[in-house]
Amino acid sequence: MEQSILPEIKKAAKKSLKARDGELASINKQMEILNGGIFADGELPYFKDKIAEIGHHPLRPNKLEILQINVGYMCNQVCEHCHVDAGPDRKEIMTRETMELCLEVIRNTGAHTLDLTGGAPEMNPNFRWFVEEAAKAGIKDFIVRSNLTIIRANKKYYDLPEFFKKHNVHVVSSMPHYTRGKTDKQRGDGVFDKSIKALQELNAVGYGMPNSDLRLDLVYNPSGAFLPGDQMAMERDFKKALDEDFGIQFHNLFAITNLPISRFLDYLIASDNYEDYMYALVEAYNPAAVANVMCTNTISVSWDGWLYDCDFNQMLDLKVASKVKHIKDYNEDLLNDRNIVISQHCYGCTAGAGSSCQGTVA
Ligand code: SF4
Ligand code: SF4
Repeated sequence: MEQSILPEIKKAAKKSLKARDGELASINKQMEILNGGIFADGELPYFKDKIAEIGHHPLRPNKLEILQINVGYMCNQVCEHCHVDAGPDRKEIMTRETMELCLEVIRNTGAHTLDLTGGAPEMNPNFRWFVEEAAKAGIKDFIVRSNLTIIRANKKYYDLPEFFKKHNVHVVSSMPHYTRGKTDKQRGDGVFDKSIKALQELNAVGYGMPNSDLRLDLVYNPSGAFLPGDQMAMERDFKKALDEDFGIQFHNLFAITNLPISRFLDYLIASDNYEDYMYALVEAYNPAAVANVMCTNTISVSWDGWLYDCDFNQMLDLKVASKVKHIKDYNEDLLNDRNIVISQHCYGCTAGAGSSCQGTVA
């Protein structure tokens, strides 16, 4: 089934759902799917009932450690599984004024990790300024989620490895597979070769080398309607293949589960895999993963300054359940005293060994 439908999906995925006016560009439609059907029928339990069994409902945050800022939905790629629905046609970009508000929060809060994401965060015209200012503001661990190909997309990005090095940025890069076929199938033709070149350039300035402080981690996510395998075993396979074939070194591999939202939800429905996938997520539910899901120590900020429990909730426009909803009104005490907004997509974070932007959590 997956094989026969994929070419059609891939062709359609040259534009974001928003640009092609796809039905699932509507967040209401996505929520209707996630809350209805097999869950409303009682075939599968709601996530809230599942976590109530172990006393975790309502889900509450721990101490804020990570500020994850989405600086815009523009991207040079249009990956089939993208939960952001990013692409070259997306124009939502964080302004310098909103970045100033984020810097103010960084100066005044306990967030020690800044996690910049997108889209391709490097495409925001104020990206470099923001990195420099955030470094001055005292961020200790500075993560940039790079799709790698941006480094080779245009001359103006060629020096990104040096720029990252200068600011000791921790580079977390998407790399769905160590083979050309699987990577290009998910992310587009030519992505594998550009990613390899970018990784070699990052290695050349010291990123990912054994004993190097310049952290280079890769992110794997499945290319179809299945859950990731064992993270350690995959890391070994990636390390062996990338070293043998291309002389590439990196530190860790994070295995991330695709959450059933946005373009991945669209893919699941178009390929008739939605119900099977939700069954697989619920069957793989691991209560031990609940306590450490990403939203327990992270606040996500959207390009226009709204606050969310995580990047996935941002894409579903599920704003934080707090009096404070925008970065301009940021108040850590009030935010810490909130219930995390959950729905059935959250099963993606608690399946198997769990899943977060940093890979497994249990
Ligand atoms: S590179 Fe990342 S943000 Fe860009 S389309 Fe692919 S998954 Fe989405
Ligand atoms: S999807 Fe977001 S809110 Fe739900 S469990 Fe995962 S991190 Fe938390």
